[in-house]
Amino acid sequence: MVKVLIPREWDAGETRVAISPEVVKRLAGRQVQCCVERGAGQQAGFSDEDYVAAGADLVTPGDRAMRSQSDIVLSVGPLGENTAALRPGALVIGQLAPHNNNGLLDQLEEGKLSAISLELLPRISRAQAMDALSSQANIAGYKAVLLAAAGLDRFMPMLMTAAGTVQPAKVVVIGAGVAGLQAVATARRLGAVVSVSDVRAAAQEQVESLGARFIPPPEQGVPGESGGYAKQATMSFLDAQRAGLSEHLNQADVVICTAQVPGRPAPMLITSAMVAAMRPGAVIVDLAVIQGGNCELSQAGQTVEHNGVKVIGADRLPGSVAHHASSLYARNLMSLLEALIDQEGVLKLDSEDELLAPSLISLDGNLRRTDLVPERATSSEMTS
Ligand code: NAD
Repeated sequence: MVKVLIPREWDAGETRVAISPEVVKRLAGRQVQCCVERGAGQQAGFSDEDYVAAGADLVTPGDRAMRSQSDIVLSVGPLGENTAALRPGALVIGQLAPHNNNGLLDQLEEGKLSAISLELLPRISRAQAMDALSSQANIAGYKAVLLAAAGLDRFMPMLMTAAGTVQPAKVVVIGAGVAGLQAVATARRLGAVVSVSDVRAAAQEQVESLGARFIPPPEQGVPGESGGYAKQATMSFLDAQRAGLSEHLNQADVVICTAQVPGRPAPMLITSAMVAAMRPGAVIVDLAVIQGGNCELSQAGQTVEHNGVKVIGADRLPGSVAHHASSLYARNLMSLLEALIDQEGVLKLDSEDELLAPSLISLDGNLRRTDLVPERATSSEMTS
């Protein structure tokens, strides 16, 4: 039997929870006993009673005895002090933000903990059902369009009324990954006319299949790709891209920014001068704000107004749809746990496995991905 602890999220602003009652029940059939801290699911619409009915044990938040007996700890975001009192060899799984969380590596090393960072799972078909980045980005893309629509001073769809015809809103989506494509689909459902910028060649067909227009990148110096992700662009490429985007932004009512490069600052594609040239009343929603933002003016969790244009630094959108975000995240975790725990209820961590080779950042406190944090890279062994 594997004992899994689901603590309350360390970040007080986190509304999601790592496990749903549905998944507690499914895991029980796999010799997994879930112990959920009281109130952990409350903000996601899951009561303590729901967890108990599904077969979970309820535990007091911060109970050190319970922590020391847990084999696995599941989390949505970084664990913070929730790693305290875990036994050596315990496994933590979550979106651990390893690129910018040096303290995490120290905690793993000192506590001799193992850790899987979901952001680092490879994008292979076997890992699709475990892909928390996608399940959460999908929600962010959807909610970003709703936020923009709510902040906009005009309709999204074309309307023909007795008082005259209203033209549809013009939406520009920057970045056609998971969040961007969901933003396109949602804006199209609301009746907007959508244009999309991306640097990956494959994006064009996906964008056009959703009924949007593709804005091609500048011809010179297009950044390459690695594992399905765009690489970092050069300064001169970004200059050319900004120049090309300006004419689209000048016409736009809504801009949804989703362009990101894993482990790097997000490409800065909208300067304050470009915002000033936009139509007053337009809305920019920047989902890349945590990585510095695609818009120069974006600030995490805030709405900045510049020449009548609202710039929304949307850093917590999956958490604003906490119930479904948690349900999907929990299913991602369930798929991963089913790959790690055999039918007899034995947890096996094979660091050679294609799932774990990139995502197992620590095995019993031996750090395997110090390359993610530049200042640690020289001190320990590096893997790819
Ligand atoms: P992401 O969040 O890293 O980036 C979002 C988008 O920003 C990407 O499409 C990227 O190309 C784009 N971008 C980067 N720099 C840009 C720039 N200067 N200008 C405009 N756009 C820029 O990416 P993501 O959403 O996680 O997905 C990346 C790709 O991986 C997508 O093609 C997605 O469909 C694919 N994917 C594959 C799998 C799988 O095979 N299992 C799972 C999920 C996603």
